[in-house]
Amino acid sequence: MIIGVLALQGAFQKHIDMLNRLKVSTEKVRYSSDFTDIDALIIPGGESTTLSKLIINENLFKIILEFTSKKPVFGTCAGLILLSKKTQNNTKIISFKALDVKVERNGWGRQINSFETTVDLKIDNDESCNFNGMFIRAPKIISCDGSTKVLSSLNGSPVMVRDGMTLGTTFHPELTDDLKIHEYFINMIKEYENIRKN
Ligand code: GLN
Repeated sequence: MIIGVLALQGAFQKHIDMLNRLKVSTEKVRYSSDFTDIDALIIPGGESTTLSKLIINENLFKIILEFTSKKPVFGTCAGLILLSKKTQNNTKIISFKALDVKVERNGWGRQINSFETTVDLKIDNDESCNFNGMFIRAPKIISCDGSTKVLSSLNGSPVMVRDGMTLGTTFHPELTDDLKIHEYFINMIKEYENIRKN
């Protein structure tokens, strides 16, 4: 299994470090040709406007769109914004429409309002487990539609969601020492490979 991590801007190295700890092979994705070998993709946090510009400039929009419509993809923070169907009040953000949610950029507050708090995850057959959520200029999910499942909420707003083979967190699991969410994503990829084989 090789997990590609979009390496145009933002916190991509932290995701790679986590996956290395889980003994999974990774590839930094920067060009269209990098998509041939990868089984799944992580779109990291950063700045969704900058990431949008870079994706267009590097001619990566079409290939990522195609990839996200088929394969397992995980977006954190700005990555989640790009995967969302709708972003409130913003035309500068590209959308891969892989998560049927509507988001508000910086909905949890700007840089000075960044915070850390314990969130409850429902990733293990509905048994809850704790996770240290790091929210940095985090987007707020304001509506969740279609087949989107909420895996964690904070004060009534979803902070971790899954829609088919697309996973998103509004916080940054790669900035903690806790491997749970990356492990969950790896299990999604295994699930996807099993469905494909049968
Ligand atoms: N607020 C940022 C944006 O809109 C996301 C911040 C982050 O990824 N930490 O892109």
